Amino acid sequence: MISVRNLSKRFGSLQVLRDVSLEVAPGEVVVIIGPSGSGKSTLLRSLNYLEKPEAGEIIINGERLGQNPRDVIRMRSQIGMVFQRFSLFPHMTALENVIEGPVTVKKVPKEEALAKGKTLLEKVGLGDKLTSRPSQLSGGQQQRVAIARALAMEPLIMLFDEPTSALDPELVGEVLAVMKDLAKEGMTMVVVTHEMGFAREVADRVLFMDEGRIIEEGKPEGIFSNPQNERTRAFLSKIL
Ligand code: ADP
Ligand code: MG
Repeated sequence: MISVRNLSKRFGSLQVLRDVSLEVAPGEVVVIIGPSGSGKSTLLRSLNYLEKPEAGEIIINGERLGQNPRDVIRMRSQIGMVFQRFSLFPHMTALENVIEGPVTVKKVPKEEALAKGKTLLEKVGLGDKLTSRPSQLSGGQQQRVAIARALAMEPLIMLFDEPTSALDPELVGEVLAVMKDLAKEGMTMVVVTHEMGFAREVADRVLFMDEGRIIEEGKPEGIFSNPQNERTRAFLSKIL
């Protein structure tokens, strides 16, 4: 579903990604861990061309991402992204947030988008918050609206960049539960998170990044109980 080959990216003189290669199969859940500044967000953002690669190639669902802006726009609509900070439109209700993309980008008829949007908000446990604005919702609820909004575009892939890092601890579980459900349904997911319980339970594969490289990867039980690389070990000893 995702194929990254020899991706490099620099910001000025700072080399942020160094020859990163990565394959993600359909339905696979890949968790990326690693220290702050190691390039995790840049890698995720590169997958939907929010960052333009300096070298290397990205193939999504068999299609190589090129320079054609139309291809980039179409491909972006196939990749849902949820960020650390809830990025909802503040002046819109939960339901309006969810239908905005389908109605304006995909030209889905409003009635159809509303019906689907309601179903999605019910799915993330917010069937009673359709008309609430973001300011009336908790961080966990806002993040669940953000997930429903991404799903409304019917993406092939969902990318999550530390989706629970900005949440109060008691709200983390409700967001992870929605992500677990999605994983069970077979969504292809790439998740940057420090929630090791989630990684253990849900990830098919864990990647450890450091200084712009994927240093180690494997099944969660292997990485967590028996990391091979010294830097992986040092990182895990700090967060576990
Ligand atoms: P992570 O998500 O692992 O914390 P990032 O991918 O956000 O790491 O950042 C990797 C490095 O690139 C950091 O040193 C960061 O400061 C730098 N960086 C990220 N985005 C930009 C940008 N737009 N311009 C300049 N430097 C950036
Ligand atoms: Mg980041």
